[in-house]
Amino acid sequence: MNVKKWLGAGFLVGSFCALAWLERRRPLRHRVAESKFRREIRNLSVGAVGAGALMLVERPIILPLSQFVEVHNWGLLKQLRLPRWLELAVAVILLDYTLYIWHYLTHRVPLLWRFHVAHHVDLDLDTSTALRFHFGELALSVPWRAAQVIVIGVLPLAYLIWQTLVFPSILFHHSNVELPINAERWLNRLIVTPRMHGIHHSMIEEETNSNWSSGLSVWDWLHGTLKLNVPQDQITIGVPAYRDPKEVRFTDVLALPFRRQRPSWTFPDDGKPMRDISRGLENRLLP
Ligand SMILES: [Zn+2]
Repeated sequence: MNVKKWLGAGFLVGSFCALAWLERRRPLRHRVAESKFRREIRNLSVGAVGAGALMLVERPIILPLSQFVEVHNWGLLKQLRLPRWLELAVAVILLDYTLYIWHYLTHRVPLLWRFHVAHHVDLDLDTSTALRFHFGELALSVPWRAAQVIVIGVLPLAYLIWQTLVFPSILFHHSNVELPINAERWLNRLIVTPRMHGIHHSMIEEETNSNWSSGLSVWDWLHGTLKLNVPQDQITIGVPAYRDPKEVRFTDVLALPFRRQRPSWTFPDDGKPMRDISRGLENRLLP
């Protein structure tokens, strides 16, 4: 590993530790299910398996592909003949937009939801949830990433810049840190924030089917999928079909996509969670 990679890894570990510490000092939502430490260990373990999958599948493909794209002038951006700095910026923005589309697909395509549900069945939400992606979802994202690189024409530097931005962003918006509401409203005009993403992890289906952005919040705004008018103390995190902590342990999480799927949005003993409180409130972040 070279110095830049060590610095990148150190920055991520530092961000994770800082957010995990802040979550203990200023929690946004109250813990409901299990001990935070136990969930952190589990989510880190799921994340470690996922990181292994990425090393095996993504690393040998995406960066070399991006170098190939650069050498052969492939992709939409090459046709525009932009100055290099602008081409890099537009590539990073388009990677962020196409990640919005990928996230939408992981919810809408049943095969992908089998894997993405492993991320959503976490019974609480904090920065460790940001690492809890099933290795299968990460492996399935590699062809999508390859298509992003080829179609957009992503240079290796643009890819590295995007990766450097997207990981801290994902740690941040999953975190359970209470920011001052006015500061978060301001920040949310630009990027995805913890309260906004908390609504995406609600066990109410129509709330989960909102807020699919991962970096810039503008994509949800443009697509009309932005939902901000749910107070955090009204949110129950998770998926109705999997409410028992004994069913979402480490091995259950890894096995989940390969088991018979329950209807996600009803409780095992039938009935859907309902709420009507967001009606009539203007669409802005609530405490
Ligand atoms: Zn999701």
